[in-house]
Amino acid sequence: MFDFMMTDEQKRLRDEARAFTKWVPKQLILDMDAEKVQFPREYLQEAGTRNLLGIRLPREYGGRGLTWVDDAIVAEEIGVASYSLACLWGVGADIVCEAVIEFGCEELKQQVVVPLLKGETFAAEGLTEPRGGSDFFGAATVAKKDGDDWIITGQKRFIVGAEGADWFLVYAVTDPAAPAHKRMTAFMVPRTSGVETRYIYGLMGVRGGGAGRLILKDVRVPERYALGGINGGFEVFKRMMIPERLGTAAMTIGSVRPAVEIATRYTSKRKAFGFPIQMFQAVGFKVADCAMLLDSARSMVYTTCRAVDSGTVHPGRVRRMVSQSKKYVTEAAWEIANKCMQVVGGIGYTNVYPLERIVRDIRLSMIWVGSNEIMQLIIQNEWYKEYFKTLSKEDIRDVESDALNAHEDEEKVYE
Ligand SMILES: Cc1cc2nc3c(=O)[nH]c(=O)nc-3n(C[C@H](O)[C@H](O)[C@H](O)COP(=O)(O)OP(=O)(O)OC[C@H]3O[C@@H](n4cnc5c(N)ncnc54)[C@H](O)[C@@H]3O)c2cc1C
Repeated sequence: MFDFMMTDEQKRLRDEARAFTKWVPKQLILDMDAEKVQFPREYLQEAGTRNLLGIRLPREYGGRGLTWVDDAIVAEEIGVASYSLACLWGVGADIVCEAVIEFGCEELKQQVVVPLLKGETFAAEGLTEPRGGSDFFGAATVAKKDGDDWIITGQKRFIVGAEGADWFLVYAVTDPAAPAHKRMTAFMVPRTSGVETRYIYGLMGVRGGGAGRLILKDVRVPERYALGGINGGFEVFKRMMIPERLGTAAMTIGSVRPAVEIATRYTSKRKAFGFPIQMFQAVGFKVADCAMLLDSARSMVYTTCRAVDSGTVHPGRVRRMVSQSKKYVTEAAWEIANKCMQVVGGIGYTNVYPLERIVRDIRLSMIWVGSNEIMQLIIQNEWYKEYFKTLSKEDIRDVESDALNAHEDEEKVYE
């Protein structure tokens, strides 16, 4: 985030997050990338000990009770050490715990949120299924009522942290006959009888974060574990789109930032044809573009955080801004990571520099928490709605009628 926009308190918070990121052992990052570590429990424990989990969540449950702007400041710094660690940092505390705080009963808040924010337990989010992740309403996982309980059966895949999770936020169909937005329920499922996880994916990047298959076979959960009530899953899903996507945008900035720093240092020292390569515009301009993209990504995230924090911006507009941030930042990050590798040349493609890991890690950002095509879909829907409902009704100059031949109505053919 921009230091000149931070209060002194926010700078202190940023520095706390930076100190935590400096604490992360290099060996842990290497072991996760080599998949010698499949779930870095000690990382989450340390984050909890430092009270760096649940930045926006209420203090009474162990959070910091701060804003989205504060959260993004921390998320950027968390992203710096490793994208995989940042994913874990975000999924449990920022996503699942927010769902429990907003939609869960007191018992769940005490059982899930309080220990998780201390770093003692972990919770994963299970939305994507083998048959597809983009089509949320097409879920095949079902829950059937049995007395006061629900019995859940189904499978979820690519679940970050599945390997180490004690709790799973799982969406299941509870009323197949109902319209799409009223048929799903979000259940909190403890790791109990019938819950199995499999660490089976050979991931390109973001390794060691426990991403696995979640298999639920006749898993019994009490009805009070349904967040937002039975058939209230869509409301939970809608709300979770904010931490999933805005959180991803913020941490992605941090994960790609070191690439720009490495490329800047390298190109100022490396010589070719007798000059530091920074002097060749083909090189220096690429680094300049990276700096510009990084700052524009920050601007977008910061503005969106302010919109969410205000609580006054229309939910449709928030949805559009959050989706724009996710799409723009992750695509900017991909361009940055590749440009940085390009200017470092052959050695950038080796593990002498971490650029190759950053490129592999960052690639996920355009796919997960809703692919960028789905972001585009939301942006398109919300933009047209917003334009015709509000923007088109504002009392502003009608520039369309400024054209010389604007009066030629018979030339304005639409069908
Ligand atoms: C490492 C990793 C970690 C993940 N972590 C989690 C997690 O913790 N929890 C979780 O629930 N999920 C997780 N995911 C899943 C991720 O969110 C999904 O992979 C993603 O949403 C896309 O779903 P899909 O893979 O089923 O692709 P599909 O939904 O099959 O889509 C395939 C392609 O079609 C495009 N497409 C689909 N529908 C449309 C449409 N209507 N318009 C335009 N294009 C469309 C998509 O954009 C994509 O390019 C993770 C994935 C990975 C790889």
